[in-house]
Amino acid sequence: MNKNQIIEMADDSLLHVYNRFPVVFDYGKGVYLYDNCDEAYLDFASGIGVMALGYGNETFEESLYSQIKRITHTSNLYYNMPMIEAAEKLCKASGMDKVFFTNSGAEAIEGALKTAKKYAYLKRGAGDYEIIAMENSFHGRTVGSLSVTGTDHYREPFYPLMSGVKFAKFNDFGSILANATDKTCAIILETVQGEGGLYPADKEFLEKTRQFCDDEGILLILDEVQCGMGRTGSMYAFQQYGIKPDILTTAKALGNGVPVGAFAVTNDVAANSLVPGDHGTTYGGNPLCTQAVSQVFDLFEEYKIIDHVNEIAPYFEQVLDILVEKYDFVKERRGLGLMQGLVLTIPVKEVVTKALLDAHLVVLSAGADVLRLLPPLVITEQDIDDFKTKIEGVFDTFL
Ligand SMILES: *Cc1c(COP(=O)(O)O)cnc(C)c1O
Repeated sequence: MNKNQIIEMADDSLLHVYNRFPVVFDYGKGVYLYDNCDEAYLDFASGIGVMALGYGNETFEESLYSQIKRITHTSNLYYNMPMIEAAEKLCKASGMDKVFFTNSGAEAIEGALKTAKKYAYLKRGAGDYEIIAMENSFHGRTVGSLSVTGTDHYREPFYPLMSGVKFAKFNDFGSILANATDKTCAIILETVQGEGGLYPADKEFLEKTRQFCDDEGILLILDEVQCGMGRTGSMYAFQQYGIKPDILTTAKALGNGVPVGAFAVTNDVAANSLVPGDHGTTYGGNPLCTQAVSQVFDLFEEYKIIDHVNEIAPYFEQVLDILVEKYDFVKERRGLGLMQGLVLTIPVKEVVTKALLDAHLVVLSAGADVLRLLPPLVITEQDIDDFKTKIEGVFDTFL
């Protein structure tokens, strides 16, 4: 089948909720993707921050094969070893105490919201509890996660959503105070806003928000679905801020391409929130997905991924800063570690399309005007140099 036939076939059967780029990816190796004609594309998107270890890692694949042969699903009515090991490794890496595995990031958010509500219900009695979320945030597409997503046009067609959500300005502690009431049970935010345009939280803002939550008995939910798993130079971004959430959500790179997410809580939250009967999932934590998680944590350690990110990120930033200097329409670089964005005054969608189709460079957009770069965490200086050559080729066509 040629590409056009494949795309036609897709249009016949897939619900049209994505305007896909006309590329059919067939396989991947390292930091390169290959289309159905065996053409190589340098990947600086990682399937939206998922493929942290790149493509075709044999150790990772072998561990999945052997798990598939052993068992892939049992349900949560029984114990299985991969889930227990993965939970232990996630607790160790994050400093959290108890874990619930989900099938996606949005489901991790759903679980976090329910946990926060139950915590308030047990501690403070029945009440119409409120949640403070951030403007410009992104937490997912399910009804609960959409309810705390701060982009009006994502939400509006689906009203009424979950009630009791207020939106504060990100990095503006006064705005949190202004939205807080005696009904507030949780504050949810991304430590580094991803979809909204690569905005890291300010240290002072996070510290004050943490203190306020402590003082008022409010839970702090940090959504690290995108910025977690080593992306910013620490296993979780909050670890660079000297604070800790009450509830952490993680997904995307957690399974390196196997669909899995999790929310993790402190002992205090675990002891005062969900109990048997309150929450569940059929697939969540199945041995295949949690074997992937377990293997990801092992390989992060074996390859010293965090050290590598800290070594390579300054070089990446330097190259991006050169682009800011060189091109008038590249206004600013923003981000943390290998989660970087370039603010453009030329149409970012056009840049992403040209990069993909003409330069065979896979990049993302975020917000209205940001070129978002989430390369696999295993990239080398050579890959960054190749990225520079390709993106310069694209930028030059806008001069
Ligand atoms: C992608 C993302 C989600 C949603 O994850 P899904 O797996 O797509 O449901 C939630 N929060 C953040 C910060 C994300 O980047």
